[in-house]
Amino acid sequence: MKKFKPKRVLIEHDALDYKLGQELEKKFKAEEIPIDYIKSHNRVRAEKEMSPIELFNWNKQTLVVGVKKTLKFKSCQPSADYRLVTSTSCPAKCEYCYLAKNLGSAAYLRIYVNLKEILKAVKKHIRKGRGEIITFEASSSSDPVAVEHFTGSLAKIIEYFAKQDKGRLRVVTKFANVDNLLDLTHNNHTRFRFSLNSSYVIKNFEHLTASLDERITAASKIQQAGYPVGFILAPLMIYDGWQDDYLDLLTELKERLVNPTSNNLTFELIMHRFSTRSKNLIEARFPNTKLKLDKEAYHHKGFGKYVYPPQQAKELKEYLTKQINDLFPKAEVEYFT
Ligand code: SF4
Repeated sequence: MKKFKPKRVLIEHDALDYKLGQELEKKFKAEEIPIDYIKSHNRVRAEKEMSPIELFNWNKQTLVVGVKKTLKFKSCQPSADYRLVTSTSCPAKCEYCYLAKNLGSAAYLRIYVNLKEILKAVKKHIRKGRGEIITFEASSSSDPVAVEHFTGSLAKIIEYFAKQDKGRLRVVTKFANVDNLLDLTHNNHTRFRFSLNSSYVIKNFEHLTASLDERITAASKIQQAGYPVGFILAPLMIYDGWQDDYLDLLTELKERLVNPTSNNLTFELIMHRFSTRSKNLIEARFPNTKLKLDKEAYHHKGFGKYVYPPQQAKELKEYLTKQINDLFPKAEVEYFT
């Protein structure tokens, strides 16, 4: 797929005090992308009143270059101990995206240029573990692979973690431009996961992401480069023919992975869910969505959150776990939620 190119770039004044900020400014000027200069990456507004669809599209075509001020990391269960944020939002338009929901009208893409300061904060958080292994999720607020062609930050973070005895990095992506990461020294300290789904889900709901074929090719390259590899199957959906589609996906994965019998493969299983807030946002942004958001058909978990009823959730969990165990006997299913 073509790498993301924004329609407009906004650069925070302070970002130009950093080498990466200056390099990015030069790069975007050379590509003749319109640049504006702003005070704060937190207060970006479109120039005019827009409908929810227009605003969503405007956000997804806008790239903001800023400085990350908050260096106290939040918890990131069940995936990792902490969130490691070097960018916010992502250029894709997955209809169900929880990030796009959480960010609301501020779903514009942000990349942070003060990587050294962020990595210093990582060191502090590792120390807090008092000798325990501390894990960091690099994809809790964005898809870092989607902007790696601009920043090169993920490569630097992977190399940083390679040197940390007690720090481990976890990455997850729906993108495939991983070539600059293949020859790095990673020391097995980064687990690289690819978010996969059935072709029905990718086709209908995951707009502007890499195709399934591209993601599996990238996963194979990453496995060949020696990284611990994993897969997030999410959001798992029930629809006519879901069992066959998920079996096809797992079968293709097994056929194309360099080492499907590795004992260092992980799977994370997350079923489709929505909240009253996300339902409202999705219906405003994607009026013709095929996503099932009918509250009556789902189980209300409380706090306005909906998941599949217990019987269907059990069916999903048992079916997927069985197929994974059959096809990848040495893999670990880390959780189903
Ligand atoms: Fe959201 Fe991930 Fe899709 Fe980007 S790739 S829109 S972060 S779900």
